[in-house]
Amino acid sequence: MALIEVSNLKKSYGKLDVLKQITFDVNKNDVVAVIGPSGSGKSTMLRSLIHLEEIDGGSICISGEYLVRDGIYSKPQEIKRITSKMGMVFQHFNLFPHLTVKENLELAPRLVKKELNAEIERRSKELLEKIGLSDWATAYPGKLSGGQKQRVAIARALMMNPEILLFDEPTSALDPELTGEVLQVMKQLAEEHMTMIVVTHEMGFAKEVANRVIFMDNGEIIESGHPTELFTNPKFERTKAFLKRSL
Ligand code: ADP
Ligand code: MG
Repeated sequence: MALIEVSNLKKSYGKLDVLKQITFDVNKNDVVAVIGPSGSGKSTMLRSLIHLEEIDGGSICISGEYLVRDGIYSKPQEIKRITSKMGMVFQHFNLFPHLTVKENLELAPRLVKKELNAEIERRSKELLEKIGLSDWATAYPGKLSGGQKQRVAIARALMMNPEILLFDEPTSALDPELTGEVLQVMKQLAEEHMTMIVVTHEMGFAKEVANRVIFMDNGEIIESGHPTELFTNPKFERTKAFLKRSL
């Protein structure tokens, strides 16, 4: 059984069809890179999975449970439970500026999960070590570089023990010299078999880390496949043209 099953996803803004019958599966431990031109619907697709956008038709099933089935959403409580299996990392980090790094990590678990504080603190300590920012626990996000902010955002998502991590252009807002440290953390997660969907312009990362690439254009999946196959032998003109511009 696939961990994520998306079928015939449709979404429009007025007359603009942003997603046109999108269908794909993600298996456990997959790292799926989603590439495509700006405006092709990548963010809308990703945000739909975690219910930051409501779709107009189709189904999304997360580890066997329907978030939405044939355009009909589950009950709010169910939606909350199902979407809590996923964590998301955004282009612009979205850290809380008035909370320290440690507080950013611990806020959601404290609010949502009713866990013991000791367990929450143990995990935040462990995750700060993992991303190499133990010395920054009491700093405010404003003091951090973009790369450090994004590593904190990844750790914050991990605090909820998600089954799946979604990344929407996690390095696009960073200066080029800071992308490496973020991609390194993501690569490590992949090696630990985290299931990930990564919208990215980093073709190197897609080639090296992803086991599948999905190419979207104009609200459709044009083709998908193993990176070696898709990058060296694209089947469609639109993929070829995009790769020519991007590689
Ligand atoms: P991508 O992430 O691939 O750049 P998006 O999913 O952000 O693409 O956007 C797809 C299309 O939907 C674009 O044409 C964009 O202008 C449009 N769009 C996105 N969000 C909205 C919105 N809230 N209202 C109207 N149009 C939107
Ligand atoms: Mg986008």
